[in-house]
Amino acid sequence: MKVAIVGGGWAGIAAAVELADAGHDISVFEMAPQPGGRARSVAGNPDYDNGQHILIGAYRDSLALMRRLGVDPDAVLKRLPLALPYPGEPGLRLPAGSPLIAFARGVLAHRGWPLHARLGLLAAAGGWLARGFRCDARLSVAELCTGLPAAVKRDLVEPLCIAALNTPAPQASAQVFLRVLKDALFSGAGSADLLLPRRPLSELLAAPAAAWLGERLRLGRRVQMIETGWRVDGEAFDAVVLACTSVEAARLTADLAPAWSAIAQGLGFEPIVTVYLSSPGSALPAPMLALREGPDAPAQFVFDHGQLGGAPGRFAFVVSGAAAWVAHGGCAEAVLAQAQRELAWATPPVIDKVLTEKRATFACTPGLARPSAQIAPGLWAAGDYVDGPYPATLEGAVRSGLAAAQGIGIGANGAAKGSPTNTP
Ligand SMILES: Cc1cc2nc3c(=O)[nH]c(=O)nc-3n(C[C@H](O)[C@H](O)[C@H](O)COP(=O)(O)OP(=O)(O)OC[C@H]3O[C@@H](n4cnc5c(N)ncnc54)[C@H](O)[C@@H]3O)c2cc1C
Repeated sequence: MKVAIVGGGWAGIAAAVELADAGHDISVFEMAPQPGGRARSVAGNPDYDNGQHILIGAYRDSLALMRRLGVDPDAVLKRLPLALPYPGEPGLRLPAGSPLIAFARGVLAHRGWPLHARLGLLAAAGGWLARGFRCDARLSVAELCTGLPAAVKRDLVEPLCIAALNTPAPQASAQVFLRVLKDALFSGAGSADLLLPRRPLSELLAAPAAAWLGERLRLGRRVQMIETGWRVDGEAFDAVVLACTSVEAARLTADLAPAWSAIAQGLGFEPIVTVYLSSPGSALPAPMLALREGPDAPAQFVFDHGQLGGAPGRFAFVVSGAAAWVAHGGCAEAVLAQAQRELAWATPPVIDKVLTEKRATFACTPGLARPSAQIAPGLWAAGDYVDGPYPATLEGAVRSGLAAAQGIGIGANGAAKGSPTNTP
């Protein structure tokens, strides 16, 4: 089959590799001058990533896709056992071994919490486990965790929630949060490990994918129109994967599939601001520290690039769920003040670069209706926003790309669902 893939982010790359390996004739249309979508290095300045990214050991399909493209995850990612150290506090850290046992041991050993808080967390986690990490889809993370001790909510639940769902706990889906916990704790040894990029983000997937795809990747091509049949800006294809953003997918399907388009159009977004500070000669006590967010403290995490294969003296501060800061302004200055207050510096830190992604991820709220993967026979959607158990993550994007490719493949091998005559 001749298949068009619209969008060359991680979802589009996953779909492209899967379809090409299955023998299909693919073309990837990417409107930007480089592939990678939201997860790439800054165009023209690979010293900076388009936002600090973290993977975890449970990102099975992302890691496998990297290997398929000749990338060794162990070479480009620094693997650390899950730990949430705060400035001056060791914080929760999981020992090596089976993640579930490590979680119990790590919680019990965490002297920063009173014993009743540690036991309260283990009891709650036992309850989530007994219920198969499922809950009422209408619950928020804050509601799910309402009975937990305040220290556990402040030091563990809220930072994990904002890091994984990019949505503050009072507005975040408890069901999706539990699914992330389940995969981190039950996908085998190392699944809860943090995998921090130690190469420019584009080297993880986008650049190797560009080399692998060659002329099948058409850069600088913003698809304007899709017609049934299928035609992509007038060019005939047997099937199409829409791996662009939800906003663009909604635009391209407005006439083709109005109901699907309306659901995609209805998604809300949460911004992420990444503030790079520079302070020559400075280093953090760990490659990554958690920070306590507050009214005058926007950042939840800071990364020391000098310990991650990048420029010594460069630090990436991450402000997730940053809607209020984006609305009011002053985020970078507040991060600088937070950094000066909370961390020790060899030389005064200065603001180096500020990246604001207003639509970093969809807002992962309780009971959210997400658009389905299949839009019509032969027309599929792939992307981190497509219906699935994950929040907007690299792994969610990759899995949806693989699923769309497999859906098209099943159509091709079965009832020729993708054939031009089989229109919606
Ligand atoms: C600052 C930031 C930090 C993040 N941190 C993490 C993290 O730590 N861990 C994690 O797992 N995830 C993180 N994410 C989320 C992760 O980056 C995304 O989930 C993932 O990159 C989404 O991939 P995608 O392929 O679904 O979409 P995208 O990356 O948005 O790709 C869509 C592509 O389609 C292209 N396109 C759009 N319209 C058209 C058109 N009409 N024609 C042709 N091309 C088109 C776009 O240019 C883009 O390249 C973060 C995101 C941001 C912004």
